[in-house]
Amino acid sequence: MTTILDGKKLRDKIFENLKSKLDKMPVKPTLAVILAGDDPSSRIYVNNKKKCAEKLGINSIVIEYPSDVTEQELIEKIQELNADEKITAILVQLPLPEHINKSNVINTILPQKDVDGLTTANSGKLFAGEKPYVYPCTPKGILLLLDEYNIELDGKHAVVIGRSNLVGKPVAQMLLNRNATVTMCHSHTKNLADIIKTADIVVSAVGKNVVGEKNIIKNNCVIVDVGIFRDESGKVRGDVEKVSPAYLSPVPGGVGPMTIASLMLNTVELFLFDKTL
Ligand code: NAP
Repeated sequence: MTTILDGKKLRDKIFENLKSKLDKMPVKPTLAVILAGDDPSSRIYVNNKKKCAEKLGINSIVIEYPSDVTEQELIEKIQELNADEKITAILVQLPLPEHINKSNVINTILPQKDVDGLTTANSGKLFAGEKPYVYPCTPKGILLLLDEYNIELDGKHAVVIGRSNLVGKPVAQMLLNRNATVTMCHSHTKNLADIIKTADIVVSAVGKNVVGEKNIIKNNCVIVDVGIFRDESGKVRGDVEKVSPAYLSPVPGGVGPMTIASLMLNTVELFLFDKTL
């Protein structure tokens, strides 16, 4: 029998705690989100983030730019937000239009306002085994979900599929920091199925079906499905289908809600950093 790693349920619990904390704060955090271009999914994600923030009592502003915005315009806006004391958290919605250098833009955010934990300053700390201001939202959400279900990480073989800066690399490092033995896989990995066979935990962040009925998995295997994509028929799918592990995060309803819960947690953590309630 498969136990579902229920991200919605944990998100609601986190929101309840956050709301009661925020209700007691005389001054609230303010999250600024930059949205550049007209990607419809990005617009939906940004609207959801704004709605969640407002429901919890976090101030939020969305600054929109057309897809021909210049890198310099974005950098100048971020510098302005960095200098604005009322803005306590800054997020740049990805992907950015192709002509823009993502690293230049993200690394303009002050590390203490970097709510996604994606600046080189914050990710460098993570990889050096130091504490960043905050951990990247999706990896943090994955670890919170595994902890909620008391899934042991120490000494376990964790296989991470996908090596993006957003998900694969930071989640692998966070699992390593928790004493898992981590194998990272990507599009050049040979014999992925043989590696999956030996996994206690699989985290799949690819965006296509890479784990399915052809795979043999261990009896107690835990699978976290991060991937989400629409197939030709428009159906929303995850990376993992037709397998029955001991634990599985569903798509939708698993990692997605945990990413937004982590964003709200990070917004409050940045606000409270060096402050007492
Ligand atoms: P990404 O930057 O496109 O990275 C995808 C990774 O998958 C790459 O490292 C790529 O390898 C690897 N890959 C591609 N084909 C493969 C294959 N056949 N076998 C093994 N690895 C393969 O994507 P991302 O930003 O990390 O996102 C990954 C997925 O997670 C997407 O579906 C995205 O929508 C989803 N996501 C969900 C959430 C959420 O909150 N639910 C948050 C973030 C992302 P190479 O490096 O060799 O190209």
